[in-house]
Amino acid sequence: VANADVAIRPHSWEHYFTLAPGAVLNLELGDPTMYEPFWRAVGPRATTVIPGSDTMSYFSDAGAGELCWFLEPEFERAVRRLHRVVGNAAVDDQDGGGYHFVVGNGATQLFQAAMYALSCDADDDAKPVPVVSAAPYYSTNLQLSGHFRWAGDANAFTGENYIELVCSPNNPDGAVREAALSSSGTAKLIHDLVYYWPQYTAITVRAAHDIMLFTLSKITGHAGTRIGWALVRDRDVARKMVYFVDRSTIGVSKDSQLRATKILGVVSDAYELPHAAGAPPRLFGFARRRLAERWRALRAAVAASSGAFSLQEETSGYCNFAKQTVAACPAFAWLRCDKDGVEDCAAFLAGLKIVARGGEQFGGDARCVRINMMDRDQVFDLLVRRIASLKIEQPDYL
Ligand code: PMP
Repeated sequence: VANADVAIRPHSWEHYFTLAPGAVLNLELGDPTMYEPFWRAVGPRATTVIPGSDTMSYFSDAGAGELCWFLEPEFERAVRRLHRVVGNAAVDDQDGGGYHFVVGNGATQLFQAAMYALSCDADDDAKPVPVVSAAPYYSTNLQLSGHFRWAGDANAFTGENYIELVCSPNNPDGAVREAALSSSGTAKLIHDLVYYWPQYTAITVRAAHDIMLFTLSKITGHAGTRIGWALVRDRDVARKMVYFVDRSTIGVSKDSQLRATKILGVVSDAYELPHAAGAPPRLFGFARRRLAERWRALRAAVAASSGAFSLQEETSGYCNFAKQTVAACPAFAWLRCDKDGVEDCAAFLAGLKIVARGGEQFGGDARCVRINMMDRDQVFDLLVRRIASLKIEQPDYL
């Protein structure tokens, strides 16, 4: 953590750090450390032990003819099971799916793989294929490819033969989205559904898009395990994505896949095993309660700032998983600074020692910033206090 005010105690991630009252709060990235106490409570049943002689081969036990030769079959089973438990994505034939499964080093690698797969057969004069997304968007900046190029805001785009990234719920503002451009038959869509889980939003439909991306990072908080997956309808597109992962990293860590298998198994068990049989604690309830509390606290702080700030509207919907109407609890706050004379909200917050990503980096308004709602309690509590204290001319920690 590049943060001089944070004292990391060597052997104790558990009680990891103490924040000085004047510490810099780094909420720029989407680090999901909020989930640490949950996994501490789960304890040893989420632990993976891998003997020294295991997982040595580049190859998995996937059967001959399997598309994704580096995919651990039990990992795929654990993921399909969780999607069935939650009902957020079509994974089976009976859902009209029959999806192919590709594992990647986070959803980040699968983005690149999908863009490659959707653009590599384009005519030379159509390359690099434009990639667009409606602003404010989660930008996947580093796209050094002759096949595709970043072309910015979907709503400002007029060409043909493009790829649109649809992130729903959206990073940075949590909006539930559909493709911005009505498909003229020349558009190819990549659906980034990494936040389409019950702690963040109502599960309203079983999503069944051509390419759907998910990541362990935002479901369980295990961002460091670097595991993502894609559900892909078309076999040839899936095959090209596998080729991309093969060429760029010769597959995906087996150790990580085994760890993810264990972790996801614990999540599903909590909903499928009877409580009497000692089922583990329930992840989605834990995360939803935490996020809901944080949203309440942040909204109250913003209200107390007497008009200096505003936030995205609260939305709600009927969740088929929770079987009730729930408010959305986005993973990010999209905070707008309404103070007179402040044009750059990120710079203004930096003055309060709050590091947030400025709106223009999402193709949006510099008066907005994105703030991570998934950091640790201490960081979040200090954030709320600082926002609320703004009506005081000179906050006392400065
Ligand atoms: N998509 C979105 C919308 C994200 O917010 C993130 C992480 N910030 C990712 C994809 C990538 O996640 P990872 O590489 O950790 O799987």
